[in-house]
Amino acid sequence: MNKRLVILGSGESGTGAAILAKQKGFDVFVSDMGAIPENFKQELIHHHILFEEGKHTEELILNADEIIKSPGIPHKAEMVKKAIKKNISIISEIEFASRYTNAKKIGITGTNGKTTTTLLVYHLLQKAGLNVACGGNVGTSFARLVAKKEYDYFVLELSSFQLDDMYNFKADIAVLCNITPDHLDRYNYELQNYINSKFRITQNQTPDNVFIYCADDELTITNINKFEIKAQQLPFSYNKKISLGAYVNDKQIISSTQKENLNPFTMYINELSLKGRHNAYNSMAAAIIGQVLNIRKETIRESLSDFQNVEHRLEPVLTVGGVEFINDSKATNVNSAWYALESMEKPTIWIAGGTDKGNDYTLLKELVKDKVRIIVCMGLDNRKIHEAFGADVDMIVNTTSAKEAVHVAQKLAKPGEVVLLSPACASFDLFKNYEDRGRQFKKAVKDL
Ligand code: ADP
Repeated sequence: MNKRLVILGSGESGTGAAILAKQKGFDVFVSDMGAIPENFKQELIHHHILFEEGKHTEELILNADEIIKSPGIPHKAEMVKKAIKKNISIISEIEFASRYTNAKKIGITGTNGKTTTTLLVYHLLQKAGLNVACGGNVGTSFARLVAKKEYDYFVLELSSFQLDDMYNFKADIAVLCNITPDHLDRYNYELQNYINSKFRITQNQTPDNVFIYCADDELTITNINKFEIKAQQLPFSYNKKISLGAYVNDKQIISSTQKENLNPFTMYINELSLKGRHNAYNSMAAAIIGQVLNIRKETIRESLSDFQNVEHRLEPVLTVGGVEFINDSKATNVNSAWYALESMEKPTIWIAGGTDKGNDYTLLKELVKDKVRIIVCMGLDNRKIHEAFGADVDMIVNTTSAKEAVHVAQKLAKPGEVVLLSPACASFDLFKNYEDRGRQFKKAVKDL
């Protein structure tokens, strides 16, 4: 009899896993507590995959040989607890898919910068003419890519939730962009649990693999020695010289990955297409990967200079009456908003607020004093923002929609200033998600 594989959750990762599992001859069943989106349902039907929605039927789930759990489902979910009790192996879709490919895997994780770095590295490998696919936590699921075609390289964005259910997966090249507190509700409010989860990216690596990380990132540095990391370490830094890895010196990135490398890769920061210090970090990670893969320096330089920024990440929208509008809706935590504010070169009208995830705004105080003239709150409860910054800016205004926020910001902004949406909060009080927030913001700007 075929092995029974049950997939909990049917979003992009669950559906991708189902398609791959079916292709590999498993007895596949998909179960989703919520409604399965129509496009995924059609795919399941097309592939003759059995599924249920709006419920989890215990008898159809706990008879599984193995369960693939979607990253959005916490371990404390009732059905997951029951499966654990029955000793059923529970893995992530990434773990499952990795069993069916011999391609080289570049795994990218971190609290912030995953998507940008993943897409940048993908762009670089494509330019180098490699047979590469990109996915994971962004775009197409890894399993769907594996089911589709033989690739030589995968560039994979990996969230901590995906890493949690990965056991034998090995990243040939692992990148840890940074670690700042986030998603603590899923980690019993223990920061160490979240840190441990991020470092799982290095598990199973061998000395011929590479681990790339930020040497300026406090939590990475204070924790790195707690883990047995066998891969070659190639850090990057903005502040200090790195002999093997990358650093910034005199406004230039300098990257060397081999001892005998007398001829490092160099590139001026102002030639990078992605602006801001955080993006210099992301670009250094990509440059190191380029060198590790022996990609020509010219190709690395070209890729880092012509990469088109990703939507909702410091995305320039329009300049209206001399006022520049920037959409950084993806900044859903304090750290990402910090980098956005830090990269502002003009007096800033800052649109912030939304669903607070336990934010510590003191981290932003100095930057706000330095860069922000007015704060436009966009959220249902803005008390914390008023308390944190009331004394640091000329004015704080409350608004409750993107349209209102944009109108108020435009009224208050002077030519030569910038209006920055970088909320430092989740979007769920007023919007469906951060994409919806970003799009409504852009529409309101375009309608001005
Ligand atoms: P993720 O996929 O990890 O959420 P994104 O690339 O989507 O990361 O970026 C999320 C937010 O963080 C954006 O506001 C972006 O400008 C900012 N950001 C990007 N790279 C970094 C970085 N290396 N450090 C801190 N913030 C970053």
